[in-house]
Amino acid sequence: MDGAKGLETLSKEVLQFINGKRKLLIDGKWVESQSGETFEVYNPATGQVIAHVPAGNKEDVDMAVKAARKAFTEGSPWRKLTPSERGRIVSRIGDLILKYADELAQLESLDNGKPVSVARAADIPLAADLFHYMSGFATKLDGSTIQPSVPYTPGAEYHAYTRREPIGVVGQIIPWNFPLLMAAWKLGPALTSGCTVVLKPAEETPLTALRLGEICQEAGLPDGVLNIITGFGETTGAPLVAHPLVDKIAFTGSTEVGKLIVKAAAHDLKKLSLELGGKSPVIILDDANLDIAIPGAANGIFFNQGQCCAAGSRLYIQEKVYDQVVEGIAKYAKNLKVGPGLDPTTQLGPLVSQIQLERVTGFIESGKSQGASAASGGSRWGNEGYFVEPTLMVNTEDHMKVVQEEIFGPVVVATKFKDLDDDLIRRANDSVFGLASGIWSQDISKVHRLAARLQAGTVWVNCYNIFDASLPFGGFKQSGWGREMGSLVLNNYLESKTVCISL
Ligand code: ADP
Repeated sequence: MDGAKGLETLSKEVLQFINGKRKLLIDGKWVESQSGETFEVYNPATGQVIAHVPAGNKEDVDMAVKAARKAFTEGSPWRKLTPSERGRIVSRIGDLILKYADELAQLESLDNGKPVSVARAADIPLAADLFHYMSGFATKLDGSTIQPSVPYTPGAEYHAYTRREPIGVVGQIIPWNFPLLMAAWKLGPALTSGCTVVLKPAEETPLTALRLGEICQEAGLPDGVLNIITGFGETTGAPLVAHPLVDKIAFTGSTEVGKLIVKAAAHDLKKLSLELGGKSPVIILDDANLDIAIPGAANGIFFNQGQCCAAGSRLYIQEKVYDQVVEGIAKYAKNLKVGPGLDPTTQLGPLVSQIQLERVTGFIESGKSQGASAASGGSRWGNEGYFVEPTLMVNTEDHMKVVQEEIFGPVVVATKFKDLDDDLIRRANDSVFGLASGIWSQDISKVHRLAARLQAGTVWVNCYNIFDASLPFGGFKQSGWGREMGSLVLNNYLESKTVCISL
């Protein structure tokens, strides 16, 4: 194998998986792409090739969509299952993720670069939990009974009810920052609702989604219910969005690609749910408990190398505690242990790709050229792999690119505010995004007032990056359409049908 360096700790199963011939999952069978083409998957810690996977194209997407269509047809094995049988399969997927948790954590760390300890503690159990949480809804997708008045038909009586039905064939396009977890966010509710799926993982990180395909088969998911096509955005993702037999696209990724998908879906008005970018403000009031606020705000940006759509990337710190917070976060950043994700002692791994490395260091340079400076970090780390030092930028102004644009790396900007007034709210909300936000304070009245005025889908108070299967997550403004997780996500995958009967 080409990229053996740094892979000494991998288990036999993971080595076998990356060295084996990876294929596409179509109609329950693992098949090569029609073109026979493959692409390379890299280890972000070294830049070396670790695996090859099929480069799916339009023909493969077409076969996968047709398989999903067939599996959705009335009378198919999937449609014949009772809700409770369907729920049990979804729940078994969760059980198997836990069974293979160590293997999945290694594979995720290898593919994405994230610390294996984080993948094992957060990504994998959360992915399992998502399937377990969602599975319970399979038996509770109830409609309601309605008693209509219909004033223009005096004397007539009606009985009406609503049914909640699966939307149909869903194309799911996911990013590389939490590869398995994003697949779980999408698949858990789609399968629970009775939909069938064509999943397209990100080209940077296709490995755990392919392993999840095997797990779904082991859990007893009928053929064709889940199809997985690896490949690139333009050659695999775009044909999926354009396919006339796809009823809905669920997308997580950049706002830029989200807009392309909106345009592409316009011709047949496909249903869309979009979970997009963010530039989330974190407000630290001078009454905050700094013992928890400093590490909490630091972790809010540096978690997952800052490659989180919800990353707390804009700090607004009240004047009185500004110096202490900046000093504390800079110290936290300097003490983080940077290294390869597979090293169990690593706290901050590499970014996912060379492109991402260039993008993030480009943002840091742009900040410096506009007059900002780095209170910690500010450069590439090492000269191998895609590492960036955890960076805290100060002396920023609100108009700067580093304050306005999503960096998607371990880079946070810190600015000062004097009073908790309209100006602070305006600055915190001064973004095209509205995904998440944070408040650190011990004053409950201030917290509630602020929480009501922040334009964000989530407000974390005295905590940050708390994700749970039960908590709806999604964006205001250009951060997206719809919600992931919680019971609200089911709206993405269900149609409501009204049945009205004249008695
Ligand atoms: P990032 O910029 O973080 O890499 P992207 O939004 O580019 O995120 O990618 C997220 C997902 O969207 C990936 O699976 C990618 O392949 C896919 N994608 C990219 N471009 C398109 C497109 N034009 N149509 C459909 N999917 C796309």
